[in-house]
Amino acid sequence: MEPLHGRYLRPFGLNRTLVVLGLRSIAVLGGLVGMAGIVDSHTHLHSFALKGVLDETLEAAAEAGLERLVTVGTDTDDWDFYADLAERYSQIDYTVGIHPCHVEADWEDAFSLIEPFWSRAGKPVALGEIGLDRFHLPRNDEAAAKEIFALQVAACEAQLQLAKQLDAPVVIHSRGAFEECVELIDASGVDWTKVVFHCFSEGPGEMKQLLDRGGFGSFTGVITFKNAESVREAAKLQGLDRLMIETDAPYLAPMPKRGKPNEPAYLAYTATYCAELFGVSPEEFAEKTTGRAKAFYSLG
Ligand SMILES: [Zn+2]
Ligand SMILES: [Zn+2]
Repeated sequence: MEPLHGRYLRPFGLNRTLVVLGLRSIAVLGGLVGMAGIVDSHTHLHSFALKGVLDETLEAAAEAGLERLVTVGTDTDDWDFYADLAERYSQIDYTVGIHPCHVEADWEDAFSLIEPFWSRAGKPVALGEIGLDRFHLPRNDEAAAKEIFALQVAACEAQLQLAKQLDAPVVIHSRGAFEECVELIDASGVDWTKVVFHCFSEGPGEMKQLLDRGGFGSFTGVITFKNAESVREAAKLQGLDRLMIETDAPYLAPMPKRGKPNEPAYLAYTATYCAELFGVSPEEFAEKTTGRAKAFYSLG
């Protein structure tokens, strides 16, 4: 193990070593892992505000070394809250978009509210998350499932056209619909270098399709799961220089917190795991992934 700096606890393997001791190590020994200078490129802070724990959550994130967070819009419920949050906190940026699981028959009403966000002083850093989700469709009503999926396609197409018009980066949510998402983006004429498939949970074959087009995949705690070997292969195929990491909190906590509610601070577990996966120091890992996230979302 090479010498490491900062608060750094190897969360995996037999060698659980606390490298730097000091006053803060008490917090580390309490179970919090840190990596200085990382960016949570996809999180949902609304859930923490609803629980009344937003301040503590942001404090824990700062303690864990997070320097920026991109909080991702899913519906009219959270867009204004995020715009306001980004104005109040210098470390927070936001996106606006209709998540496929929030597409209703009247989605066009919500859609008409998206573009005005780009006239605000504090603009969204991307349009999203948008896309297609087969996983949450009704399971015992084929006709209803088909109808909802058609609405998802229509809402995704409209939002892709808007992203093209605004020249905005796009955050794609794709669950059980990778090929269809790729086809929709191809057909839209959106600049693929502005597209990220967030929570990339496919394999190297799918990653190659993104790379061939200039697109990106960003990775959640799923990459730390034991059975996620093909996800790790996809991350390696993309390479460290193109990598972005995210929590997607409050969902998908990384090991060793799997199954618990996730929070931005836990990004440090994913970052620590990935630094080892790529065989680089925490400093190099943070520098590369933060540079990529800042470039993709034009974070000032
Ligand atoms: Zn998503
Ligand atoms: Zn999300």
